[in-house]
Amino acid sequence: MRLSCDVELKNRLLPSHGMKGKGRPLRCSLAIGRRGGNSGNGQEGAVFLMVCSAKDKTGTKYKLKGNMEQVFTRFVQEGKATLRLKEPEQDICISKADPLQLKNFLSVLKLGCQGSKLEKVHLSTLTPATSAQVERPKTKMVILQRSDYPIRERFPKGLESLRVNGCSLSRIDSRILGLKHLRALDLSKNRIRTLPDDPGQSTALVELKLADNLLERLPPALCLSSLRNTLQFLDLAGNNLKFLPPQICEMTSLLRLHVANNQLTTLPENFGRLEKLRFFSAQENQMVVLPFSFMDLSMDEVDLSGNCFQLAEQEASASHMQRTSEEFPTLLEVTARSIKKQRVPYTEEDLPRHLHHHLSRVKWCVCSNPCFQPYAKHRVPFNLHRVAHTLVGPTSAPVEGFLCSAFCWSNLQANPNAPWKCKRK
Ligand SMILES: [Zn+2]
Repeated sequence: MRLSCDVELKNRLLPSHGMKGKGRPLRCSLAIGRRGGNSGNGQEGAVFLMVCSAKDKTGTKYKLKGNMEQVFTRFVQEGKATLRLKEPEQDICISKADPLQLKNFLSVLKLGCQGSKLEKVHLSTLTPATSAQVERPKTKMVILQRSDYPIRERFPKGLESLRVNGCSLSRIDSRILGLKHLRALDLSKNRIRTLPDDPGQSTALVELKLADNLLERLPPALCLSSLRNTLQFLDLAGNNLKFLPPQICEMTSLLRLHVANNQLTTLPENFGRLEKLRFFSAQENQMVVLPFSFMDLSMDEVDLSGNCFQLAEQEASASHMQRTSEEFPTLLEVTARSIKKQRVPYTEEDLPRHLHHHLSRVKWCVCSNPCFQPYAKHRVPFNLHRVAHTLVGPTSAPVEGFLCSAFCWSNLQANPNAPWKCKRK
């Protein structure tokens, strides 16, 4: 029975002599056993607890039977426990252990202290620990050359940050998607063309950098996966994206979004849902217009330089309106509007595929009602300083909004400045 964990040894006599311990936990391997392990009858030799560290691989042994003053297990779920020995007067503070393994270890420890029922337990032979057992698990890895990229071996299980740059990867390796603790993944400067629909086991990702690859699309399912609640930084700069799926607006934890150097012509209609967004860089794209909801944002830094924002002469000073459909909406239109307005719940299984797709392309009128075939659309010049503290690029860009009905059309004509004075909610 061995347990890998951090251990801090605290001598309880030191404070009474006015001294302090060093107080730094070491990666250790703990073992419970007797010399020679279990013998046939399990009767011989005292049971010891052995603590091995990288400096002391042969380990220090503590007798168990009758020598444990107390075991503190309140934080065992967090992988922590403290063993208070009688002799020597020391506390063995355990942390960063696997909670399940720690619980098993403590139950064997209890038997060891009582010195009973040890026949069925597999005890250690108390041989010195190997280097791997006392090494701190690797949490960070950087690979900058193709020759360093592991071909068959697994990535270290406890990896929290992985950077693989310039290795010509064509997809995200399933071994990477199996890393449960991964928080930052940087796969910039590769040749990745497609992304998976779900992040596998890597559900705690906070940072995903995929700049300078060959991506042509961002899978909508990936935006709707668990990443939508965790991902704060998404870097898609320098790819071949022609559009962003509307589902990206569901990734409401995003603080930082980089989509510079792509071929985007506009942003999704409900882009303003990304309420937490603070840094947005979309320079060197082909955007001609921004969605109306862009005005709902409040950001620290925005870069929209190198785009194609233009306002025709008649649009430059005031709003420009254009009829886009007939006065009376179709049955499909009325039903779809009602589903969105009443927030009727539906899943992909409930509806034919084309209807599901149709519903995902909802547009919102300035009156906050949903529409799919808007009665009209209108463009207005928008002062970008209103949404960005620091602005790079044009100070003004056209925003395009939709009008659901003749009523909204006439309202807007009567008072063209009203809708964008107050924020749409
Ligand atoms: Zn309306």
